[in-house]
Amino acid sequence: MITVTPEARLAGLLCDLAARTLPEDVGQRYAEEWRADLAADPTYALQYASSILANVLVLRLTLSGAVKADQPLRCQLHLHHYVPIHDNPENRRATSHRCTRCGHITDDSGVGGWPGRFNVSDRDPYAR
Ligand SMILES: [Zn+2]
Repeated sequence: MITVTPEARLAGLLCDLAARTLPEDVGQRYAEEWRADLAADPTYALQYASSILANVLVLRLTLSGAVKADQPLRCQLHLHHYVPIHDNPENRRATSHRCTRCGHITDDSGVGGWPGRFNVSDRDPYAR
């Protein structure tokens, strides 16, 4: 007879709760996988289930395509680290910028200022 401890039962419920937040077509599969992990090693069941619950939102966003798993978190939050990559010889005030972390490129027309939160005149050596 298999004895299920209250901690293991709670961990299973937490995993089921996490799986319910996922899209219906994959939630059941994840629940089964997480329960298999709990059954294989119940030593830290609550810690395991807690970590799943804590990260299920990121998993949901990744599955939906809203978040790219290989993109740094700060870039996912649109906090890119832009550096100027070239200036436009036709317009010395316009500069393209590339994020050093993810490679995202943005063009700055001089309208609206520096990509992100700084004004282009603060960083652009050609700005007047
Ligand atoms: Zn970036």
